[in-house]
Amino acid sequence: MARPGKVDYHVHYYLDSCASPDMTLPVIDREARKMGLEEIAVLKHYSAALPNGEQDWVSWHVIKEDQFQRYLQEMKAYQPAEGLKIFSGVETELVNDGGDINIPLEKQELIDSIALSVHYIPEMEGVKEKFLYHPRAQAPLMETDETAKKAMKTWMEQVRDLGSAYFIEHLVRGYVKAFEKYPKIHQASHMYDGLFPLRDYRIPYEELGEKKIIELMEPLMEAMVRYDVLWELLPEPIGNENILHRANEMGVRFIASADGHSINGTWGRFPDHVQAEELIDSLGLCKGIIHWEK
Ligand SMILES: [Zn+2]
Ligand SMILES: [Zn+2]
Repeated sequence: MARPGKVDYHVHYYLDSCASPDMTLPVIDREARKMGLEEIAVLKHYSAALPNGEQDWVSWHVIKEDQFQRYLQEMKAYQPAEGLKIFSGVETELVNDGGDINIPLEKQELIDSIALSVHYIPEMEGVKEKFLYHPRAQAPLMETDETAKKAMKTWMEQVRDLGSAYFIEHLVRGYVKAFEKYPKIHQASHMYDGLFPLRDYRIPYEELGEKKIIELMEPLMEAMVRYDVLWELLPEPIGNENILHRANEMGVRFIASADGHSINGTWGRFPDHVQAEELIDSLGLCKGIIHWEK
């Protein structure tokens, strides 16, 4: 079994257009060994559908079945030498507060693990008017485009009417239900303090005060312990440290990743994994590993 601190379950593969062409299995294998890693998961992005109902939206693309098949074949064919285990998986999104995720069950059966991300705000039952912009990823547009500005205004009205607590509750509810339903979810990806989707969507949750925020986050922490789901941190500023300390206290275990998309590109460099390990150490958080028999 791999040792905590020697694993990275979030490495991207060259078949995804966001990853650099040199992210092939031999190169990933070589770099993983350089860092002393004992176990990794090489992932395929998997989105069955997108919020706008089309093939592409902002930075995301609907999965192409032939690419997924090719990924599975290449993963199966590659046998790493002793000392490193390579698992397969997908990075997919939480779709709504009912815990649906963006990969159908029959496709989940073809892979070892699921890294669950929140790339855009999941659908929530109380949000009646669909908001089809991503305020962070499309920040310039939000300032210049009249239609975007109008949509943003309507969004902020809904945010005000529902209140910040609603969004934390329903984000947490979505995660918890997804963990309940899908046992292959072993990690929640690029979590920071768990609130970055709310920051991305300009939800003023800080008005609730730290005590209340942590209280609202506790069901998520509890579920991560119960379903053995790891909290992933990137080598980036994490937001509110006290949320992470509370999670740690409740028994949540953390894993490091650089969300590797390249070896030496301008962002998402796999070798920066080491810095994510250092970040977890500097915060005094406990590290975990995936228990594959789950
Ligand atoms: Zn992601
Ligand atoms: Zn990723």
